[in-house]
Amino acid sequence: MAAITRRDFVRRSARVAAAAAVASQLEWLTACGGTGRKAPTDKDWERLAKELHGRLVRPGGSEYTTLNRPSNLRYANVRPQGIAVCSGAEDVRTSLLWAQEHDVPVVARSGGHSYSGYSTTTGLLVDFSDLRRVSVDRTTGIVTVEPGAQNVDIYDGLQPYGVAFSAGRCPTVAVSGLTLGGGFGFSSRHIGTSSDALLETEVVT
Ligand SMILES: Cc1cc2nc3c(=O)[nH]c(=O)nc-3n(C[C@H](O)[C@H](O)[C@H](O)COP(=O)(O)OP(=O)(O)OC[C@H]3O[C@@H](n4cnc5c(N)ncnc54)[C@H](O)[C@@H]3O)c2cc1C
Repeated sequence: MAAITRRDFVRRSARVAAAAAVASQLEWLTACGGTGRKAPTDKDWERLAKELHGRLVRPGGSEYTTLNRPSNLRYANVRPQGIAVCSGAEDVRTSLLWAQEHDVPVVARSGGHSYSGYSTTTGLLVDFSDLRRVSVDRTTGIVTVEPGAQNVDIYDGLQPYGVAFSAGRCPTVAVSGLTLGGGFGFSSRHIGTSSDALLETEVVT
């Protein structure tokens, strides 16, 4: 048997380790390689646009730049292939089913104030900026808010009723992201966080 030096042994081991690393990476890449479905065609996007009660905004559309602009401009270059401006829960359902059918990543956006760009995507952006209504049931004092309602909508909407909600300090943060993260505002020391006040929510899957 030929003797090998310590230097040869280390060199050969390094090659084996590198090969193993590449092989395991390839396996990982294959596992994450998607379903192999074709990217949606213009016709597929047109179908989505027709099915929405709200509207679909594509790159080049007049509203595209404004709608795509997140609060943290560091993520402004993450450009969605389409923005579904929803007019209700049915539009969310339509968007999710379409995205699933075409293997397109989908992300929700309400106020667009995620510090970390979590409401940006290169796929389909499901946008709630048209859903900002706030209503109050005078008898129960229960407030119903649409997902895109911003702090300013909530403070303005509740003021005539003398009802308080622990919303945040930034006027354009929306209730969805605020409540999902807990939500701390001017009156939190007195009445708790935004999520403390949550009674019920409509979940679309
Ligand atoms: C300038 C500034 C001031 C702030 N001030 C406060 C403050 O005073 N108090 C406080 O508590 N926080 C504050 N925040 C933090 C803020 O509450 C969070 O960043 C929050 O997530 C923003 O919510 P959004 O809906 O505006 O953001 P988005 O970016 O739209 O959403 C944030 C996250 O929630 C998801 N999401 C949004 N809508 C939905 C939905 N309908 N269904 C499911 N998921 C959804 C998004 O995909 C994303 O992951 C502040 C942030 C900024 C940038």
